Amino acid sequence: MPDLVQLRPVAADLEDGEPVPRIELSPEFREFSGISVEAAVRLAHEVLNDPSFPTVRAWRASGRKAVGCFPVYTPQELVHSLGMLPATMHGGGENLQITRADAALGSFLCSISKSTLEMALTGLLDPFDAFVFPYICDVSRNLEGIFARVLPDRSTHMLHLPQSFTSPATVPFLVAEYRSLLRKLERVAGREFSADDLRHSLDVFNEQRALVAELTELRREAPWSFSLTEHYLLLRLGALLPREVHIPLLRGALAELRARQPKRKDAVRVILVGPFCEQPTLELLQLVEDVGCYVVGDELQMLHSWYRRVDASADPLESLAAAYARAPIDIGVRSTPTTKAEAILARVDRCRADGVIFLTAKFCEPALEDVVLYRRALDGRHLPYLHMEFEEKSTSFEQSRLQLETFVESILFE
Ligand code: SF4
Repeated sequence: MPDLVQLRPVAADLEDGEPVPRIELSPEFREFSGISVEAAVRLAHEVLNDPSFPTVRAWRASGRKAVGCFPVYTPQELVHSLGMLPATMHGGGENLQITRADAALGSFLCSISKSTLEMALTGLLDPFDAFVFPYICDVSRNLEGIFARVLPDRSTHMLHLPQSFTSPATVPFLVAEYRSLLRKLERVAGREFSADDLRHSLDVFNEQRALVAELTELRREAPWSFSLTEHYLLLRLGALLPREVHIPLLRGALAELRARQPKRKDAVRVILVGPFCEQPTLELLQLVEDVGCYVVGDELQMLHSWYRRVDASADPLESLAAAYARAPIDIGVRSTPTTKAEAILARVDRCRADGVIFLTAKFCEPALEDVVLYRRALDGRHLPYLHMEFEEKSTSFEQSRLQLETFVESILFE
């Protein structure tokens, strides 16, 4: 472990209600420089276990500003072009005790909405200067409204994303939305937007996405090279660190992972569908592999693979909007021009998957609605699937283990 990091006890050692100790990182993020995959994964554990956003606090230590982005998609390139750190707010994880948000939100809501509000009410989001909430569902829409009331000194923005991708009005509409977001971000950053700054940001994000695509390709073609949790944690860091820090980290990780020569095991190839917003616990992800699955496709950190290369030479704002609109992404909060049936079957074929695991956040309506449509398509091709629900604070996995083992055996011995 790099010596600049103050080690904290693991969650299991904490008494109920005991605050999670914070870790401190250097403002230059030296801890992430030239480290092995094992060290990066350990460091990612530390960062995720501290709900006070240590990477954002480190960034702000030298007077810079940061913007919290609720999943699933925010054009974080815009935030970057104004010299601020965009960081994704993926909820409080398993260590956060919910003591105040329960009083404000109904019980039949996803965990990420409660933990995000809890963090706002308890000062854990203080390192952020502004927040962006894409309008992905009623929950995210309401959260933006609540944030505007509970954090009135911070800027909040509801980002409207198009749902029609074939209309000639789609890209102009999105450009207008981005301009409206930019007006707020300019006020927060205290500087004006410039097309050249955005071109530079597009180049940086293009480089990061290209490396993420290589990592994803490696997982698809040689899933025995590294574990799902290694993959996930490496990408999760990419949504919390400055891109300029994550890019060399990822490049080094790719070189190391390609050189690994681990044994292949007898496992079935599956894709994970549903965890595009709230994230499952690491234990649950680990369990999926432990029972004999190679996860060759997933929706865990969609932001890094929404599109590939954005053309920085043309009008950069229009290129960014067009890239979003043309991306062939089909998840619970977005549809491609194809049907849901065609989309899931194409994904199964592309990943050469033996089956599908629907891993949906409890009370996540957008994910649950799609499961119905996807299942019908899989039934038509006699493709096996399993549906499991999760919460941020899931602790017992015995039932999940049984379900997963039965699912894997049904594929192996069919
Ligand atoms: S987990 Fe589902 S319901 Fe909850 S905010 Fe995300 S998309 Fe909306």
